[in-house]
Amino acid sequence: MSGDTAPLLEVNGLVKRFLARDGKGVVTAVNGVSLAVRPGETLGIVGESGCGKSTLGRLMLRLMEPDAGEVRFAGQDLLSLTPSALRRRRRDMQLIFQDPYASLDPRCNVGDSIAEPLAIHRVGDGGARSRRVAELLTLVGLEPDAAARYPHEFSGGQRQRIGIARAIALEPKLIVADEPVSALDVSIQAQVLNLLVDLRARLGLSYVFISHDLAVVEHVSDRVAVMYLGRIVEVAEKRRLYDKPAHPYTSALFSAIPEPDAARRRQRTILSGDVPNPEAPPSGCAFHPRCPRVMPRCVTEPPPTYTVGNGATPHRVDCFLHAPAA
Ligand code: SF4
Repeated sequence: MSGDTAPLLEVNGLVKRFLARDGKGVVTAVNGVSLAVRPGETLGIVGESGCGKSTLGRLMLRLMEPDAGEVRFAGQDLLSLTPSALRRRRRDMQLIFQDPYASLDPRCNVGDSIAEPLAIHRVGDGGARSRRVAELLTLVGLEPDAAARYPHEFSGGQRQRIGIARAIALEPKLIVADEPVSALDVSIQAQVLNLLVDLRARLGLSYVFISHDLAVVEHVSDRVAVMYLGRIVEVAEKRRLYDKPAHPYTSALFSAIPEPDAARRRQRTILSGDVPNPEAPPSGCAFHPRCPRVMPRCVTEPPPTYTVGNGATPHRVDCFLHAPAA
């Protein structure tokens, strides 16, 4: 995909802080993130639990207010929209949750749950909505008569299909999918991922696909951003990132994936220590206490962003190892 296509979604310098659990300190969950998603693209965001990726997903949809930064959707500044203009804009941007129960009311039948966004946005009358629900259920691989049943009557994979039907009901342009398959059995994960890939092609969707699982992100993404302690530390076209990771953190994440093919097997890097306490992030490069290639300057200076390689899609990395030779 060409790097000069106008972005559908663009975030610049996003910052989100929360009060620490003790009520005194501050946790910077998202720390100066700038990213863009082009029309028809899937941008994967990968990182360990607690790195801020779910918060970033919600900021992208303005389901949360950032403390600083900018969110633009189709060129429009989302943060300046009035509540009613934002509600109208929401038709174009939807969220798929890890747990579809979060969006499905257990007391409502499936048809009513899927039709709810249509009713909120006053799309069609009762008959038209019922027809649309039947169409959506078919689109996600369920029988239309599922509309009369209740969420508890379905398996986890089927419930996620229902969650997806609800998310696409208003024909959005962008879906943020937050760990959409991590609660499912591995055998079911591939089916739901294939459904998302198929819907993207059929409906011209763009996705931000958030996951801790590199294999899952690889399956669906065009580009992948790697997040560590609230920052994007590396972003590149998927094939390039998986073949030539430039950040030691990305390399360590990849080396932990079991690889049956000996030719592709990477030397294993064991990350020492846990993710640092976000209430007291390390100085300099936040990864330095765990980095196998740490240098003296990494302890005191935060690395800037460098561009590596010369592909059509920029490969960016925040690491001094890629500083141009002086
Ligand atoms: Fe490691 Fe230094 Fe690069 Fe950070 S800047 S990832 S500590 S080498």
